[in-house]
Amino acid sequence: MDLRLTEEDRVLQERAREFTRRHLFPYELECERDDGLAPDRLAEIRSAVVEWRFNAINHAPEDGGQGHDLLQQTLIEEEWGQATGALWDVPWRPSIPLREGTEAQKDEYLRPACRGERRDAYAITEEEAGSDPSRIRTAAMRKDGGFVITGEKWHVTTGDVADFLLVHAHVDGDPAKPTVFFVEKDLPGVGVVRTPKYTHRFVFEHPIFALDDVRVGEDKVLGEVGGGNDLTREWFVEERLMIAARTVGASIRALDLSLAFARERQAFGKPIAQHQGVGFMLADMAAEIASEKSLLYRVCWEAARGSLSRSDLHALAAAVKLVCSETAGRVLDRAVQVHGGRGYMRENPVERLWREVRVDRIWEGTSEIQRAILLNELTKRGLQAFVGWPT
Ligand SMILES: Cc1cc2nc3c(=O)[nH]c(=O)nc-3n(C[C@H](O)[C@H](O)[C@H](O)COP(=O)(O)OP(=O)(O)OC[C@H]3O[C@@H](n4cnc5c(N)ncnc54)[C@H](O)[C@@H]3O)c2cc1C
Repeated sequence: MDLRLTEEDRVLQERAREFTRRHLFPYELECERDDGLAPDRLAEIRSAVVEWRFNAINHAPEDGGQGHDLLQQTLIEEEWGQATGALWDVPWRPSIPLREGTEAQKDEYLRPACRGERRDAYAITEEEAGSDPSRIRTAAMRKDGGFVITGEKWHVTTGDVADFLLVHAHVDGDPAKPTVFFVEKDLPGVGVVRTPKYTHRFVFEHPIFALDDVRVGEDKVLGEVGGGNDLTREWFVEERLMIAARTVGASIRALDLSLAFARERQAFGKPIAQHQGVGFMLADMAAEIASEKSLLYRVCWEAARGSLSRSDLHALAAAVKLVCSETAGRVLDRAVQVHGGRGYMRENPVERLWREVRVDRIWEGTSEIQRAILLNELTKRGLQAFVGWPT
């Protein structure tokens, strides 16, 4: 088994590291202080994204993306995930189901989004429906050869900077017809109800949208009527792996900072790292990071080689997201503890990362939902997806 990166992948990893150092880290405190970045600052980072060819790392070159496989995306996202303020979200990655659009839809949405001229936000969750999307109330009623969409969508990440939404709705109000629609934000009937504040500082917002009799044509269906769950599932797999990659990055930065601090900081006549109570926290952080990183890379490497079935990848992505997000929670909690009072100051990256990794156990499926997916896989197909490696 050769676990070394190719030269091309190593160079890509180094480039992502350098990009993070030069174009994300310098703006972290500004983002924390101002609860976001000013338009000119965002424009500056966006030009750097294009210059460094980090736009649309998840899409094919023929659509204007970089054509990176899941392993390469993981290498990049691990580096970006070290940055606080969710600055990793400034480089845009148009939602993966957009590649399922027709040529006309790709020309109108995906390709401009890859170039950075348009931006999407994915709207599934509602006030009464999160983990269980079959409960959504947003309905798309057929009328005059098109659809009239009515409902409300919660926590729509990047909804403030997006210019179109991918709205998950039930055609004819029928839960058996879950469907994804392109909805332009400036259409009559689309409005922001409010923009709540969350625990983390996020460079963009997560508004609540109202859709009030929004008329769209038949050409605004992405994929097929009734195909919404498959599209959303495709989005979840990629998002879960990338969340995991970023939490690994966050954990690595936290350990790096904690080790440096613990070597310098003196208490009772020696550096605190030499007090076993602190040293063992560092040791646990290192062991857990080594373990989560192995799982993440194993799965992304196999996915990139195309050696996983769709169902195996779905189950393994849930395992990766569960393990990495829960590990990050423990690692960041220890990082705060190692730093003492300084670990609780917002000017300290470990404090910000500690707040920020909390949502990784909630969004794109809570930890409980990942466990439910794993249990379902175990009871239906057995252990193979988890332990049948290497083949
Ligand atoms: C900052 C942020 C950004 C987000 N961005 C987006 C976005 O861009 N687009 C979008 O559509 N959504 C987004 N979400 C929504 C997110 O995906 C949901 O919050 C998440 O899926 C959980 O749904 P819920 O909040 O309705 O919780 P609920 O589903 O009500 O769950 C509440 C609790 O019950 C538990 N639970 C539910 N079912 C089970 C079960 N079967 N077994 C055991 N426990 C269970 C959950 O794990 C949780 O602990 C975002 C959320 C946040 C906080």
